[in-house]
Amino acid sequence: MASQQQNSKTIPLKVLVDKNSNKVVFVEATKDFVETIFSFLSLPLATIVRLLATATNNNSDQQHQQSESSPFLGNIKNLYQSVQNINSNDIWSSPACKQMLLRPRNPCESLLKELFLNIDDTESSIEYFVCSTCYKFTTFENLNCTCGNPPNKKPRNLDSESQGNNNQNGVFLRESGAMFLVSDKLKIFPSSKVNSLMMLVESGCSDFTQLEEVTHNIGKQEILNLLKYTLTSHEPLTNTILVSSSKIIDDPPNQYESAVRVMPSPSDSSKMNIKVVQSKSQNKIITIEDNGDFVDFIFSFLTMPLGSIVKLLGANSFAGSGCVGNLYKSVENLDPTSVLLNPGIVPQFGCPNQPLNIPHVQPPPTTYYYGTGTPKLEWDHYYDGYRTIEVTVEGGVISKSKGSIYNAKTLIALDPRPLNSSEEGVVGFLKRTTFYGVGGNLEVKPLSANFCLSYLKELSLPIDDLEVKVIPIGETEALMFLGAFLTSKLP
Ligand SMILES: [Zn+2]
Repeated sequence: MASQQQNSKTIPLKVLVDKNSNKVVFVEATKDFVETIFSFLSLPLATIVRLLATATNNNSDQQHQQSESSPFLGNIKNLYQSVQNINSNDIWSSPACKQMLLRPRNPCESLLKELFLNIDDTESSIEYFVCSTCYKFTTFENLNCTCGNPPNKKPRNLDSESQGNNNQNGVFLRESGAMFLVSDKLKIFPSSKVNSLMMLVESGCSDFTQLEEVTHNIGKQEILNLLKYTLTSHEPLTNTILVSSSKIIDDPPNQYESAVRVMPSPSDSSKMNIKVVQSKSQNKIITIEDNGDFVDFIFSFLTMPLGSIVKLLGANSFAGSGCVGNLYKSVENLDPTSVLLNPGIVPQFGCPNQPLNIPHVQPPPTTYYYGTGTPKLEWDHYYDGYRTIEVTVEGGVISKSKGSIYNAKTLIALDPRPLNSSEEGVVGFLKRTTFYGVGGNLEVKPLSANFCLSYLKELSLPIDDLEVKVIPIGETEALMFLGAFLTSKLP
């Protein structure tokens, strides 16, 4: 299996350790390592939550504390769980919507397959459902084919088994043969004597006799830890390689505001209105009432890749320790045209009324083929020659390569989202009939009088302390909201 192959792969690192402070000064590595950590920027937020949840950790207590004290990870986990907990079909506009939010596709998925070590397993773990009458397919469960029947086949994906080729050309890096230096704070430079000296000086190391070079082979689990620490710590390499604990630097409040590029909203018509219930005495938002547009917008954070979010908010303002910003700037310095600087959202995975300026990527069109089995050359005694026979596979097989399937049929993709009957285009993730309450910790629930009452009881706030306001949300407000979501503890 591809994932097992990825799990056992390691990348050698030369680690320069300051024994005095027990910290990593920098590591020297090939493109394989640098490209894998660059790929963090391609990950949609839901993928980050999912990958970190599966990461086994040796020092679970410490890691647990760290993710809890990081507003960024805490908030996206809450959002993910909120989506996970909504089961009612009265809320989702199609059964596929929940899956889209929890398992968004990576906008760079075809590039990631070329990486030596790819941590995003979304595509290889995707299941395909095929209607063998119409030759239509979908990756979403419970979605009916256009003929009205549910897809009847669950073919084996032949492509996921050949994942992870050792490509000599760089995927995200042009200087593929070179070595790179990666600082503890994830600043990355081509390896040179001058750059290593610069990093030594920057690290504050005063006693060069205390430096020690060690080799370390880093594997997928540790890379996942590195992803976690990149989002939560100011010394992710030290945390990952030396497994030392470090305190998280708390973000100064409202840090994002100064760097958020405030742009005028193109038109007032693109604004959505939300009704907010506020506590006058505590000056904080208790709950938000919305027709679905705003909740769609918040939910769509899960499908946004990290790189596009850093692009929107600015590398200096990004949540946490600044390491994500450093990573972003390193990509920019090494390749200003890199796709990772704004990977965008895979078509169909965004929210239709997106107030933010995130592009929808157009990946190269992929054709999938389906068949009932794979071809095999067999000696035929009767004809005295080879002929191709079919090795049937239960459920059939699916692949992007026509040649790997016996009697391959071209498949057409089903659109997971229902069309909007009254207007042009598709509806969002949620139905437009209900109102939704967004709690202070971004819990989204269908709004009912019952929910409101129990919530108010929980907060034990007097009724006369509450006031209701209508707030229009345009691009500026949406950016501020996203910034606040990533950097502060809510509410
Ligand atoms: Zn069909």
